[in-house]
Amino acid sequence: MKRTKIKELLTTTPSGQQVTVQGWVRTFRNNQFVAINDGSTIQNIQAVVDFNNTPETLLKRITTGACVSITGELVPSPAKGQPVEVKVQKLEILGDSDAEKFPLQPKKHSLEFLREIAHLRARTNTFGAVMRVRHAMAFAVHKFFNERGFVYVHTPVITGSDAEGAGAMFRVTTLDANNPPRDEQGKVDHKQDFFGRETNLTVSGQLEGETYALALGDIYTFGPTFRAENSNTTRHLAEFWMIEPEMAFYDIQDNMQLAQDFLQYLVRYALEHCAEDLEFLNKRALEEEQTKPQEQRSELSLIDRLKFVSENDFQRLSYTEAIDILRSSTPNKKKKFQYLIDEWGADLQSEHERFLVEKHFKKPVILYNYPAAIKSFYMRQNEDGKTVAAMDVLFPGIGEIIGGSQREERYDRLLKRVQELGLPDKDLWWYLELRKFGSAPHSGFGLGFERLILFVTGMTNIRDVIPFPRFPGNAEF
Ligand code: ATP
Ligand code: MG
Ligand code: MG
Ligand code: MG
Repeated sequence: MKRTKIKELLTTTPSGQQVTVQGWVRTFRNNQFVAINDGSTIQNIQAVVDFNNTPETLLKRITTGACVSITGELVPSPAKGQPVEVKVQKLEILGDSDAEKFPLQPKKHSLEFLREIAHLRARTNTFGAVMRVRHAMAFAVHKFFNERGFVYVHTPVITGSDAEGAGAMFRVTTLDANNPPRDEQGKVDHKQDFFGRETNLTVSGQLEGETYALALGDIYTFGPTFRAENSNTTRHLAEFWMIEPEMAFYDIQDNMQLAQDFLQYLVRYALEHCAEDLEFLNKRALEEEQTKPQEQRSELSLIDRLKFVSENDFQRLSYTEAIDILRSSTPNKKKKFQYLIDEWGADLQSEHERFLVEKHFKKPVILYNYPAAIKSFYMRQNEDGKTVAAMDVLFPGIGEIIGGSQREERYDRLLKRVQELGLPDKDLWWYLELRKFGSAPHSGFGLGFERLILFVTGMTNIRDVIPFPRFPGNAEF
C-alpha cells in the first residue's frame, strides 16, 4: 500500500494525478466531504465522495474516528483555506469506529477529559501538534550537541547509587515482596537480590556522565529519569526525560553560557521548523489566556515569548543579589516576601522565582552561587565558605527549567562534604576515585525535557506534553 502523506500532498501541484491517502476521519459532511488527518501535519485533507455512486452501506461507515484509505485524483480545491482536495475513486474502511461511542467528537474537549483517554488523545489537533514539536525538539537536542562535538553517552537506567542523596527513588527488585529472604538479624537480605545489592531507577545520569566527561571531554545524556516524589504538581512527573551535558574544562560561567546558547538554539529551531504547529498552539494559548483574570494574563503571546527568549540574553545574578531584590520588593500591595527578610540561606519558593522572572526582570534568569546547605554535595565549594557554584535557569511561566553546577573536582573537599552529610561513601568510592586520578575542573547541567516542551508549546500542565504521563496513582497506560 503506497500512500502519500498529507503534509506532502498539500504542497504538491494538483494535476489530476492519482494519489492514495490513509488516515482517520475527522468529519464527514453532507454525505460528501470527508476531512482526513494522518498525523503528518495539523491540516486535514478534504476528500470528495461521489455519493451517487457509493453504496449507502459504505457511506454509513464513514464516521468520525474511522480509519480510511482513499484513492483518487488530486485536484485544486474550490473551497477556501485548502489548496488541494482528492476526488475519491476508491474508498476503503480499514477500521470502523462506532460514531455513538467514539469519545472524540468533532468539538473541543477539556485537557482533563483527554488525560483519561491517553490512548486516543493523540488523535486530537492539540496532541498531534505537541508531539510533533516534542519530536522536533528531541532532534534539535542531538543536532546542537553533534554540531559542537559532544558525545552522546547512554547512562544506566538501573543504578546502585542515589546521585542526590535523597530518598525519592523507585526500588528495582526481584525479591518476593511478601516473603523476602532475610539475614541473621531478620533484615531483608539484598545480597540475594538479582544484582546482589539494593538497586533503583536512576534519578539523574550526572555522576556516570561525569565519568565520561573526564575521558571524552564534552558529553551529554538524554534519557528517562525517575523520581518517586509526591509529584502532584503541574511541573513534576514521576517519569520524565532529562538532558544532561557534562563538560571537562568548563567553569560555572562557561556552563551558564552553554545553557543559554542551548535553550536559545532549541527555541529558534522550533520557530523555524514547527511554524504551523506553533501557529495553532499560539491560538490555543491565547484562548486559554482569555479565561484568566486580566492581571494573570501574560503580556506576550506564545510566539512573541519564544522570539523574545531566543533573541535576548538571560539575566545572570547571584543568589545573594536575588535575595536583596526580593527583600526590598513588594510583590503585591499588601505584603513583602516576609520570610526571606531575616534569613540568608533559605531556598527560594516558586513565587520568588516567578517574581524575579516575570515581574522584576521580565526575561529568563540564571541564578548562581547558592548557599551550600540547600544544594547537592557534588557542587564546587566557593572560597567564601558559604556558597557553591550552582546555577538554576528560571523561565517565565515555568520556573526552574535547568539545574546545574560546576562540580567539586578536589578530592579532599569532596570527601569532606560527603562525610559531613553522612552520605554512603562506600557507594560513592568510584565517584571519589575520579578525583584521585587526573581530576579536572568540569561542569554540567540538567534540562527537564518536558519543561522545555511546556515552554515551547505554551501548554500549562506537564501531563499534557508527554505521551503517557506517570504521576502518583497513574500508570495504567
Ligand atoms: P524542582 O525544584 O522543580 O523540583 P529539581 O531542582 O528537583 O527541580 P534537578 O534535580 O535540578 O530538579 O533536575 C534538573 C531538571 O530536571 C530540573 O531543572 C527540571 O527541569 C527537571 N525536573 C526535575 N524534577 C522533575 C520532575 N519530577 N518532572 C519533570 N521534570 C523534572
Ligand atoms: Mg525536585
Ligand atoms: Mg529545584
Ligand atoms: Mg534543581
